[in-house]
Amino acid sequence: MTFFVETYGCQMNHAESASVAALLESRGWTASTDSDTADLVIINTCSVRITAETRAAGRIAYYAAIKKKRPLVLVVMGCMAERLHDTLRKKYPAVDYVVGMYERDIFSDLFSALESGIPYVPVDEKPAAAYHFAASSLEKGAFQSFVPIMNGCNNFCTYCIVPYVRGREVSRDLSEILAELDLLADRGVREITLLGQNVNSYRYPDPDTGTVLDFPALLERVCRKIEERGVIQWVRFTSSHPKDFSDELIEVIAREKAVCNMIHLPVQNGSNRILKAMNRKYTREEYLALVGRIRSRIPGATLSTDILVGFPGETEEDLEDTLSLMQAVSYDAAFMYHYNPREGTAAFDLPNRIPDDLKKERLARVIELQHRMSRERMRARVGTGAVVLVESVSRNNQDELFGHTELGDMVVFSGKQDLSLVGHFVSCQLTGLRGRTFRAKILENGGSACSSN
Ligand code: SF4
Repeated sequence: MTFFVETYGCQMNHAESASVAALLESRGWTASTDSDTADLVIINTCSVRITAETRAAGRIAYYAAIKKKRPLVLVVMGCMAERLHDTLRKKYPAVDYVVGMYERDIFSDLFSALESGIPYVPVDEKPAAAYHFAASSLEKGAFQSFVPIMNGCNNFCTYCIVPYVRGREVSRDLSEILAELDLLADRGVREITLLGQNVNSYRYPDPDTGTVLDFPALLERVCRKIEERGVIQWVRFTSSHPKDFSDELIEVIAREKAVCNMIHLPVQNGSNRILKAMNRKYTREEYLALVGRIRSRIPGATLSTDILVGFPGETEEDLEDTLSLMQAVSYDAAFMYHYNPREGTAAFDLPNRIPDDLKKERLARVIELQHRMSRERMRARVGTGAVVLVESVSRNNQDELFGHTELGDMVVFSGKQDLSLVGHFVSCQLTGLRGRTFRAKILENGGSACSSN
């Protein structure tokens, strides 16, 4: 029996898809590279934007047409499944099963039923299940893996649907996280990203001390654990809400060599008026002060962010505030997008929506500024040294190697290379820049972490 998983949305969805795929493979199913021939197709959906749901609906219609020609089991999971659930089944009869965010524990029973050719009958009136974290989110052959540590969000930013579809914050059991690190080390993973909607909200009772373990303490535990094995060398985390980014966390990042000095700190907007309307719970001044503390304690840190323009009521002055904040921080990278009304969120009913063409024009100005700053910061790095995790042979030239630095820069080693370096860390000099990819030459072969602190 073959399966195909199609994933939309955030890294959490990708981690969860990889986990479902691992479960299927452990039961003897084979991953198919062709959705048109798979016996089972699972669409893991996103609800963050209406366009994401529209795309998923298009894919459901596509598979509905395939189902008319041959047998196929179609499952929809993820945020859209949670949000619409029974409505989804009624609207799209081609969908065989809808598995909401809190129903992941039914996958085993569902797959057993499919294996025996019996239709799966969900248990009605079952008590509300707890959220189940991915058991292992490793993609095959990868040297990087996500490790989900928490799910959900209590922040209720007024534009965001996440708290409604993923629910309130739940922290993952510490022993499960540590066990997953062992599993990933066994599989040769070199880099992990601790994952959650707001990792800084992590709280879990520490059985050793009887106290509550917070995120900085978890990060330290993770570092001690990976040191024992010496296989995983780099630790990243995402995403962080600025209001919860503590000085203690800055100290841990500065102190722990394995923690990459690349920090994603979503600001969303530079105007205090808009930040308040978004319910972000920090001011521009507080955010800039936090950036100052990070930069003074971790001078080599790179910062990336999310920027949302065109929120209802945004004025030209508000946009100028965003542009000036971007310049003040000088981000290395940013995910930039314009506001899209999302039914079910508090901002949906706000007056003074910004016309689409004006939103696009403002977004273009933000993107232009960021691209210029990113290019300048990257150019300044040419000639410097870096440690690179070699990931694969280059797609364009089978003799060349491809990898990325601790700061997330893509790197290609030109000319004939030792292909056995794939999966290892190498010290190199960045010699040039083409587009967003550095050219580099290898200085020496190494296997250690490389924080510049
Ligand atoms: S912090 Fe805000 S933007 Fe992020 S998931 Fe929570 S509600 Fe959404």
